[in-house]
Amino acid sequence: MSSASRPVIAAPTAGIYIHVPFCRAKCLYCDFYSLADRDDAVDRFVGCIAEEIHRAASRVRDWRFDTLYIGGGTPSLLTPRHLERIVTALQQVLGTSRIVEFTLEANPGEAPEEKLRAFRDLGVNRLSLGFQSLDPGLLKFLGRLHDPRDCNRTFGAARRAGFDNINADILFNVPGQTLRRWQSDLAALVELGPEHISAYSLTVEKGTPLRGMVAAGEVSMPCEEVDAAMYARAREYLPGRGYNAYEISNYARNGRACRHNLHYWRGEPYLGFGPAAHGFDGARRWWNVRNLDGYLKRIEGRNSPVAGGEELDPVQLHNEQLAFGLRLSGGVSVTADLGYENAADFTNRYEVQLERWADHLALSGEQLSLTEQGTFLADTIAADLFLEGRKPVPHRKQRPPAAPARG
Ligand code: SF4
Repeated sequence: MSSASRPVIAAPTAGIYIHVPFCRAKCLYCDFYSLADRDDAVDRFVGCIAEEIHRAASRVRDWRFDTLYIGGGTPSLLTPRHLERIVTALQQVLGTSRIVEFTLEANPGEAPEEKLRAFRDLGVNRLSLGFQSLDPGLLKFLGRLHDPRDCNRTFGAARRAGFDNINADILFNVPGQTLRRWQSDLAALVELGPEHISAYSLTVEKGTPLRGMVAAGEVSMPCEEVDAAMYARAREYLPGRGYNAYEISNYARNGRACRHNLHYWRGEPYLGFGPAAHGFDGARRWWNVRNLDGYLKRIEGRNSPVAGGEELDPVQLHNEQLAFGLRLSGGVSVTADLGYENAADFTNRYEVQLERWADHLALSGEQLSLTEQGTFLADTIAADLFLEGRKPVPHRKQRPPAAPARG
């Protein structure tokens, strides 16, 4: 066993995640758990979510929840009545009085103003819009149902409905996308002015149609240099326009970092409800069955929806804290987060690696972070610092999405 011991978790605040697995259509690249054409199951699904929330009560009495994130899938396909039922269950069972950030994901063109207003009235105070691109051709290629005008319309509707905290998801490294086009998307986004921008590199995930097309030679992904150039462009452009690069792929205006996603990156606890949702209590992780019908059947049959779980040992916890914490601009504390006695304990152990990554890592007091140059090789550097060469379990498909492979 290494010199790192399991960090003490001093009752951190926690997040609640609810996975809504319904979409109008399945996008080419998507490996989130979601299904098209299952409107028939929405009512049952909402009833099961309420039931799962009720069952959680005894397990989390001491938890203090401060964020709620409804992701998917496309949660904006729920009706306000559905959302009200979920919110009521949360209020009754887990308490929502301390929740300061309540995010709901919505797709452009699928969230009319009236509905957004009703969501706002139910307490949603942050909207995450899946723009993905502002190029009609690229949106079509990606299998998205909206066009750039829908992005503008839904954004305007959200503002009129009272949302003053909006995230826009945007992709780069898309086949056919030029650096010039990417720059123009960034400029248009800045002009629109969401409070938060998540800019991810498109990755080819197993089991997606995109994977099949790439394997068959029908589509070529941009080369690594183009991917890196697009990443670099976002990292240069957005901070110069008031968006802090507080995480490798996430940018926010002052005070608008996503508090829910920070729970994931900081290794703090969260509860997950719905098919494929994950929960984590600081030491143990578990996950629900990744199948809508299986989930409904288990809940309605009074069985647990949990399909698996694992206790993370101190080495795994260390490696996960390192991998996710290094993604944050503030980095990780080598004492509080990684469990070393002090900074000297850490530097003694990692002398070789700190020398190797002298231009890529910075240790300021007890805080270890990546330099801007280091963000290009985040995964490689984190892996070089893992204890006993053990990789952390990849971040599951729950917001925030899996890290783009940089390095
Ligand atoms: S990318 Fe979003 S909208 Fe598209 S299928 Fe996946 S969850 Fe649904």
